[in-house]
Amino acid sequence: MNGKKKRNYGRRKVCRFCADATLVIDYKDPRALRYFTTEKGKIIPRRISGCCALHQRQMTEAIKRARHVALLGFSSNLVS
Ligand SMILES: [Zn+2]
Repeated sequence: MNGKKKRNYGRRKVCRFCADATLVIDYKDPRALRYFTTEKGKIIPRRISGCCALHQRQMTEAIKRARHVALLGFSSNLVS
């Protein structure tokens, strides 16, 4: 009995955004974005977050955009 390979095709982890159409990735929603970042602010990899490629990419873009907007917001607040 060699080469016994078992794959869990029946229990595939589904991306939460694919599973729930009401969930929207929004860079203006820091609570949702924080869920996909570590305490240090790094983006959690797809294999851990469970997102599909499409939504992981959207999430990455949203987090980057949120950082960008926050930086602009802080700097403009300091100036004005
Ligand atoms: Zn998805």
